[in-house]
Amino acid sequence: MRTRIITIDGPAGAGKSTVSKLLSKELNCVYVDTGALYRGVAFEIKRQDIDWKNDAVLENFLRDIDLNFVMEKDSLILMSSGQDITNFIRIPEISMLASSSSAKPRVRAALLDIQRNIAKTKDAVFEGRDMGTIVFPDATVKFFLFADLGVRAKRRFDEMPDESKDINRVQKEMELRDGNDSQRKSAPLKPAADAIQIDSSFMTIEQVIDKMLKIIEKA
Ligand code: C5P
Repeated sequence: MRTRIITIDGPAGAGKSTVSKLLSKELNCVYVDTGALYRGVAFEIKRQDIDWKNDAVLENFLRDIDLNFVMEKDSLILMSSGQDITNFIRIPEISMLASSSSAKPRVRAALLDIQRNIAKTKDAVFEGRDMGTIVFPDATVKFFLFADLGVRAKRRFDEMPDESKDINRVQKEMELRDGNDSQRKSAPLKPAADAIQIDSSFMTIEQVIDKMLKIIEKA
């Protein structure tokens, strides 16, 4: 039997993670944050001091990389060679390195099977940048969630515990990352032709979930 796959793509800070987690609870299925995989690659590049712009070096590095998810009840744990790295991948430096290294087709190819293998046996909500366009072109329902840049930066800023945070910096980094992600040749950030686009700028999370559930029910 075919599994039910819901994809949510969109730029940074559009609310994808919050929405995907809640939606997966409503649908009683797993939630997969594919950005964590790209962050895991970036984390290992930094930890091992890899010259990732060199294709031969990158290829060797990717051959040995061992990332996988452990799905716990309310959380998703990212393991790298058996070590839990979940708490180390959410810093701005890793966000930027994930954005630049994810433009490499080799990096994207190395992560494709991990994502598709999960979908073979489990109903899931997948969030990312290329879920509806490349990874799951036959997904059951595809969403593209976006919001104004200023609104997204404010949301991300409010989530940050850091005392030295600076909203202008958050907005600039977000804009830079969205630019990289949308302009790259390989799997750029864009809505799939059959994706339902939702502008969350003036919507609450509950309104977004409600809208998505109504669409999924009809699918
Ligand atoms: O979603 P998140 O912000 O954690 O993703 C970090 C980076 O990983 C993104 O800026 C993007 O460059 C990359 N990414 C990607 N494809 C995905 C998910 C994330 O290229 N499906």
